[in-house]
Amino acid sequence: MNYEAKQDFARQCDADDPLQKFRGEFVRPETRNGFDCVYLCGNSLGLQPKRAVESVQQELGDWARLGVEGHFHARRPWLSYHRNAKSGLAHLTGASESEVVAMNSLTVNLHLLMTSFYRPTAGRSKILIESTAFPSDRFAVMSQIRLHGFDPSEALVEWAPRAGETTLRIDDLQDLLDKDGKQIALLLLPGVQYYNGQVLDMPGLCRMAAAAGCAIGLDLAHAIGNIPLQLHDWSPDFAAWCSYKYLNSGPGAIAGAFVHEKHHGGAGTNQLLGWWGHDETSRMKMSKHFKAEQGADLWQLSCPSVLSFAPLIASLELFTEARIENLRQKSKNLTGYLEFLLEENFAGRVVSITPPESCGAQISMTVIDSSVEPRSVFRRLEEQNVIVDWREPNVIRIAPAPLYNGYEDVFQFSERLAAALTG
Ligand SMILES: *Cc1c(COP(=O)(O)O)cnc(C)c1O
Repeated sequence: MNYEAKQDFARQCDADDPLQKFRGEFVRPETRNGFDCVYLCGNSLGLQPKRAVESVQQELGDWARLGVEGHFHARRPWLSYHRNAKSGLAHLTGASESEVVAMNSLTVNLHLLMTSFYRPTAGRSKILIESTAFPSDRFAVMSQIRLHGFDPSEALVEWAPRAGETTLRIDDLQDLLDKDGKQIALLLLPGVQYYNGQVLDMPGLCRMAAAAGCAIGLDLAHAIGNIPLQLHDWSPDFAAWCSYKYLNSGPGAIAGAFVHEKHHGGAGTNQLLGWWGHDETSRMKMSKHFKAEQGADLWQLSCPSVLSFAPLIASLELFTEARIENLRQKSKNLTGYLEFLLEENFAGRVVSITPPESCGAQISMTVIDSSVEPRSVFRRLEEQNVIVDWREPNVIRIAPAPLYNGYEDVFQFSERLAAALTG
């Protein structure tokens, strides 16, 4: 696209955008200090879809009307409630419906999946993560290592950016695997790095893990609903994500998991079990004998939290209508516009640390103008009702979500940033 740093240009792009109709499907936060909200924080908590309200009300109504019989007679029977997310999640992840399941929360799912896919032996006991991994992932991995009787100070291998750089280089990972690969049981890596917004070469990571004989799991917290995925073809062993970021399903919403088809068909001897992993048709017979569910559903433990699941159904409906490929195209244009405006209006004062060639919906920006204090720039953005987020020590993350953000949001961000830098 040929961008222009003008409001008319931004407005015209919004008017021409076939996805613009989805903007009205979301509720925006309130006006503050006379400024309407410029919400660019969908990487942290997505906005509320209006349809989420109906979706939750449906369940509250069915519960009121039917009591326990809602398990069978609700409009969406609770006994098979997890099926409501299958086609939407399959679309977003590029998987078959049997490979995906909505359940639990992200860190819980990482643990459940590591229980199956981190099976250390004396010779192959290590887990590889990236050095700037989200703390929850790091803690989960450290505790898995300890619970298997190993020491994280030896068994945790870290893939780090080079000194003075923030981007992860795939060649450095290859070097680590060449050196240590035979001792590594599992790679747990992000699809999109949460801090600098780097999109990793997921198919490449999966190929490298397979060549080194390691299992691989992908944390897709920042990738799902952002980047089109082809999990079935890329063939990681497993993946997990949360649904409150780009999936707009609300704080603490039900999360999701992917288990590749190559691991389906087990009798339930390779995972933690609960009654929801039992074959659905005979679950309520309450037999002592476990009969395994098919596919990824076998990893379910409990009856799902229907009220935290209902918004996901509404949100997946919107993604299915918009299509992730269309959203990705618009997203590239939006972040391209943001990069253009940062360069055009603020060269030498702020800089993006997100690699432009592997960028999703998020740009991570640092303030390099030494005459202003970075944190105060963030505060002055907040005062003008720009919702972005701050990550220590000096990063502001800006994420135009293509489902509900437009070019004028990006333009307004730039206008308000100019004011924030002036003080
Ligand atoms: C957001 C995020 C989490 C949060 O974990 P929860 O279990 O949902 O609280 C974990 N890991 C990554 C990489 C994230 O981006």
